[in-house]
Amino acid sequence: MSRLSIDTQNRAQRTVEELYKDLERRITASQPGLCPVDLAASFLHICHSQSCGKCTPCRVGLGRLEDLIQMVLNGTADEGTVDLIEETAQSVYMTADCAIGSEAARMVLKGVKGFRDDYLEHIRHGRCMGLQNQPVPCVFQCPAHVDVPGYISLIHEGRCADAVRLIRKDNPFPSVCGLICEHPCEVRCRRTLVDDPINIRGLKRYACEHDAGGPPLVTAPPTGKRVAVIGGGPSGLSAAFYLSMMGHDVTVFEQRKKLGGMLRYGIPAYRLPRETLDREIGYLRQTGFAVETETSIGKDVMIQSLRERFDAIYVAIGAHNDRKLGIEGEDGEGVISAVEMLRMIGDDVMPDFCGLDVVVVGGGNVAMDVARSAVRLGAKSVTVAYRRRKQDMTALPEEVEGAMADGCEILEMMAPVRIEKDEEGRAAALIVQPQLAGPVEGGRPKPVPADTPEVRIPCDRLLVAVGQGIDSRKFGEYGIPIVRGKIKALDWSGVSGEDGIFAGGDCVTGPATVIRAIAAGKVAAANIDNYLGFNHEIEADVPLPRIRFDDHHPLGRINMKERPASERRHDFKLMECGMTEEEAMQESGRCLHCDHFGYGIFKGGRVAKW
Ligand SMILES: Cc1cc2nc3c(=O)[nH]c(=O)nc-3n(C[C@H](O)[C@H](O)[C@H](O)COP(=O)(O)OP(=O)(O)OC[C@H]3O[C@@H](n4cnc5c(N)ncnc54)[C@H](O)[C@@H]3O)c2cc1C
Ligand code: SF4
Ligand code: SF4
Repeated sequence: MSRLSIDTQNRAQRTVEELYKDLERRITASQPGLCPVDLAASFLHICHSQSCGKCTPCRVGLGRLEDLIQMVLNGTADEGTVDLIEETAQSVYMTADCAIGSEAARMVLKGVKGFRDDYLEHIRHGRCMGLQNQPVPCVFQCPAHVDVPGYISLIHEGRCADAVRLIRKDNPFPSVCGLICEHPCEVRCRRTLVDDPINIRGLKRYACEHDAGGPPLVTAPPTGKRVAVIGGGPSGLSAAFYLSMMGHDVTVFEQRKKLGGMLRYGIPAYRLPRETLDREIGYLRQTGFAVETETSIGKDVMIQSLRERFDAIYVAIGAHNDRKLGIEGEDGEGVISAVEMLRMIGDDVMPDFCGLDVVVVGGGNVAMDVARSAVRLGAKSVTVAYRRRKQDMTALPEEVEGAMADGCEILEMMAPVRIEKDEEGRAAALIVQPQLAGPVEGGRPKPVPADTPEVRIPCDRLLVAVGQGIDSRKFGEYGIPIVRGKIKALDWSGVSGEDGIFAGGDCVTGPATVIRAIAAGKVAAANIDNYLGFNHEIEADVPLPRIRFDDHHPLGRINMKERPASERRHDFKLMECGMTEEEAMQESGRCLHCDHFGYGIFKGGRVAKW
């Protein structure tokens, strides 16, 4: 008999671990439209079972909260019960001995405040508001509401051209999105309940790469109405495409040499090849809208003059101003803003970083893009300095991993203090102050200066990627409402107080994503059409295949592969590899067709036109 022994998991523990994993998947795939009161009850039950039960508030209080919420669900509560839930949760929050109990109570408090109406709906009418609105998760999560199950079923039948036509009904940039969309559609995919979410973006790319071309575009008869679009980025071009399809006479004004906005002057070619972008824009231009490049509105042409010449205006100017660090030495030679550098690359002016030490400041996707571009431009070393922890970066985890694989070094918890210059005024080093992960604010620990000396990071070039601002001054001077630099538009894109002026994309939301900008362009097109006195409908007219019943067994998700880092880090050629036919067939076969096997009001339904 030994004093100590090595613990091994027994069968029950192993099974519990597996069940935890299943539960994690189910929480990840929690679809929009689920009953929030029911979810609160389930979460609370888990929290209660995780409490040690040594203090009364936690042991008794959480149990009492469970009973009260159950009464709401059973229809035996009255309106006073909601107040009682709030008071009890507040009391447990304040008095529980440890963070486990108080956090569980805080969650209940958050819920009572956040979805009080749902509690009251259960009490007054014995039903759930959420159940009235249960959309297909992937369609709902895609800001442009692309018919995902529809196009996946077409891909599975080998009808890629039809799949692309169906996507274009809601999103005129399928090839672009197939490569760089941040795919929010996958976040709540119900296939996660079985194994992993469907690779929706990858399948979109496959469809575009196998699109043999469809029938020519047919636009509606001319309406005689003129629309000006300010900004030739994804939002402006989406609006221009749909408005031209509706028969309106559209002109896009773009201040740069070429169309594309941040698709050309931001996203590097190794993620979005210029030929793909040019082809996609070329297709949109078949609808016949006019383009005036190198024309800045507010400078070369005044907004008032557009007002006189056009019946409606869509403002989609994006977010192109660089943000400064605001530290000493930022005026040094060799300190370059990310926006400035990517803009040069967009116009095919490649900076020469051969043999140089490059330091990047920032932790977002833009920081990763400039860091990885610097590697491809021949830098000897690329170091990313970030003031928070690596896991708190806003960059996508795969972008951070990719940058590291490309050879970038990430220095976390390092806040920039000043830039050291040499005698000629050139940036020579970034001085940073090490940080400590402090109190959690907004879900991330706030960095606070650590009690350790400053660190000197030598550099020849310093790339600043700490966000973008909006050049909205001229629009504000004209009378368009501006709030903290952003153009203020309503949820239907109208600008209040300015009849006939609409706005959307990054200039309204702040720097966001391509698909959100596209969705804003689509919404603006529909509402501008109505404003002009029409109600044109956009539809794809693509018959869908019959539903299949062979998707039951857990099966691995097909992930996208990339060219080896040793090869890709030397060029700007596309980094990601597409799916093979075999992979696309397997992946498309995993879709559960929630549009058919759905629940709530969506059963069997789809939005065929808008
Ligand atoms: C480096 C980088 C990488 C990114 N990577 C991704 C990604 O991988 N996935 C993703 O989804 N999103 C990504 N984004 C974000 C995405 O590019 C933007 O959210 C999107 O392009 C916004 O579209 P938009 O049409 O609103 O604005 P923009 O694309 O910025 O287009 C606005 C256009 O308006 C023009 N303009 C501005 N002012 C005027 C004026 N006064 N007169 C005439 N024209 C004017 C600009 O020149 C520009 O062409 C990235 C952004 C950057 C900077
Ligand atoms: S456009 Fe983006 S969010 Fe929409 S379905 Fe495609 S990958 Fe998903
Ligand atoms: S299984 Fe298919 S239909 Fe259901 S959410 Fe995922 S992609 Fe959409």
